[in-house]
Amino acid sequence: MKTYRQAWANFFNPDHPAKRPTFKGRFRSRMAVDVPQGRDLNIVRLNRRWGAVNLPKVGRVRFRWTKDLPGVTKGGPAGRITGARLVKQAHGWHIVFRTEPQVSAPASHPGPPVGIDRGINVALALSDGTMREHCDGLTAGEKEHLRRLEKKSARQRRTRTPGQPTSKRLRRTYDQIAKARATAKRRAFDWQHQTTTELATTFGVIKVEDLRITNMLRSAKGTAEAPGKNVAQKSGLNRSISEQAWGRTVTLLEYKSADRGGQVVKVPAPGTSQTCHRCGHRDPASRNGTVFACVNPVCGWGGHADTNAAININNADGIAVPGRGDLGVTRSVKRQPPRAA
Ligand SMILES: [Zn+2]
Repeated sequence: MKTYRQAWANFFNPDHPAKRPTFKGRFRSRMAVDVPQGRDLNIVRLNRRWGAVNLPKVGRVRFRWTKDLPGVTKGGPAGRITGARLVKQAHGWHIVFRTEPQVSAPASHPGPPVGIDRGINVALALSDGTMREHCDGLTAGEKEHLRRLEKKSARQRRTRTPGQPTSKRLRRTYDQIAKARATAKRRAFDWQHQTTTELATTFGVIKVEDLRITNMLRSAKGTAEAPGKNVAQKSGLNRSISEQAWGRTVTLLEYKSADRGGQVVKVPAPGTSQTCHRCGHRDPASRNGTVFACVNPVCGWGGHADTNAAININNADGIAVPGRGDLGVTRSVKRQPPRAA
């Protein structure tokens, strides 16, 4: 009711461009229940693996313990829990604790600066010459399993009588597909978290290309009157950008870097992939796929194209993304880490 009331308030607020609240589809929308207060949750850690929590109308529930909670774990982070949220995903119910930790302002990060280029072939290319490759979401066997399930669901859909509700068997197949996809998503998310934590710990200043991903996504297809150029190529590129979730990587880096006293700097970087970092010669002919070979005869630098772009990004000047470390000695941050139940 609280969210519903807020939705109408947003709709009538002239300064807030919100649409009129509508009904939600039962199967399409994400099922979630909010526990607005943290007071009666009575969280207890049972052992290394499990914790227990009191949920209104449900009672005592065990959940998989994944992280130290402020105000609960002895010697853990200072702060308190202000609420919780139950979310149903393909693997089951998850609980998310809303926390308000007390964090002291970190000292300035002594680490070196680094430029990061989002690659097409590799996930992240660093200016120090290293790469961070995506973990493959699913194993070959799991991919094959998913492919068979998709074939199965197509077969089951073919024999379905129009107008009749979805059969239990088809719904079961849908659930199995959703589970396999959720596994891939969780593994990708885990990789992203581990990688960004490692980067924010190692480097003091992280420079990234300032690009508007959403604009790039929108511009590719064009309209019926003015169709976009190289639509197939760009949609392939778009897909890989979406898959690698570059935008989320930057968001994660921003807060993780700020927490450690570092900062993320966004640099406008036109032509970083075509310009040689050593001599500054810009020519599209220098780049051939993943290989960069400078066409300037006096330079002739050769190497990985994404590494070259990352070094260019590291050398460029940019605008620091305002971190959250300059709010005083102690500050409260609201954050909702996703936690498995
Ligand atoms: Zn050169």
